[in-house]
Amino acid sequence: MRATLLALGLPIVLVSITLSTQADDKNPRPMESVDALVFFAVLEGLYVEGAASKDVEVILERRKMAGGLEGFVNFVYGCPLCIPALNALTVYRQRAKFPNAKGATDTFGRGLAKDIRDGLHSAEPLVRLSTIQRLVDRWVHQRLESKRLTEAERAKYQVTLEEYRKKGAGMLANAEGTGNTVFAGTDRCAICDGAVDAGR
Ligand SMILES: [Zn+2]
Repeated sequence: MRATLLALGLPIVLVSITLSTQADDKNPRPMESVDALVFFAVLEGLYVEGAASKDVEVILERRKMAGGLEGFVNFVYGCPLCIPALNALTVYRQRAKFPNAKGATDTFGRGLAKDIRDGLHSAEPLVRLSTIQRLVDRWVHQRLESKRLTEAERAKYQVTLEEYRKKGAGMLANAEGTGNTVFAGTDRCAICDGAVDAGR
């Protein structure tokens, strides 16, 4: 009898451990901010795929605007989704060599896939933007998937992502209204579209 109870007890303990570590609507986990989500998604993607600095440079391209100041070609000034992506790319560009690695290792993967590199270095601004959008979409999607979110948590992220994209679109319209922008010539933000699509 005792042996039977012990045998029965074991799965009960395992089930209760599983339940206590799983989030539910009544017991939500603390959520990572959308800023941190986008920042870490992009930084992780760059490291895991081992993006080469020359590929990062084209994403971070800047040009002189009408007023003489420089602006980013692929990011919308002040956009709440562009800023964390821009920060991640800038931090990655400044990355240090791994201090305890043999050789000069400073990343993990062997570089971005050829079709991505071709897209980033295309002469067509819209091809470059859509390639950046594909990267952001994939990286944010991967991070969201890795969190194993509940439906409610996923929906919460999606609401904020949509809200931020709306703000970004407002920033883009403002910048285009003043004419003082070097944004690559479309009425949509690639970073925002990538991040929002990733959550769907
Ligand atoms: Zn944006």
